[in-house]
Amino acid sequence: MEEEVRYCRRCGKKLATGVAFCTDCGTPVNGPLVNPQVPQQEDNPGDTAAKVAIGVFGSIVGVIILSIIGVIVFTALLLGACILGFSSLA
Ligand SMILES: [Zn+2]
Repeated sequence: MEEEVRYCRRCGKKLATGVAFCTDCGTPVNGPLVNPQVPQQEDNPGDTAAKVAIGVFGSIVGVIILSIIGVIVFTALLLGACILGFSSLA
């Protein structure tokens, strides 16, 4: 039996024998799933840029927060050392 019933991989519509494309949505029967007329290599570069920007922003904020905490801890330790030093001198 040579003919087998095939269905569109995208929309599930039953495909006629010998067709190269789905008659309903145009998806290639044997080719890749993406529609050849609409290359979908770039999926919304703006969205990607936004994600990168958010990631960079998050990294910068994280570094700044860590720096502030470091400065605060360092200052506190320094002040503590000074106070202890003065009190021990006195
Ligand atoms: Zn289809």
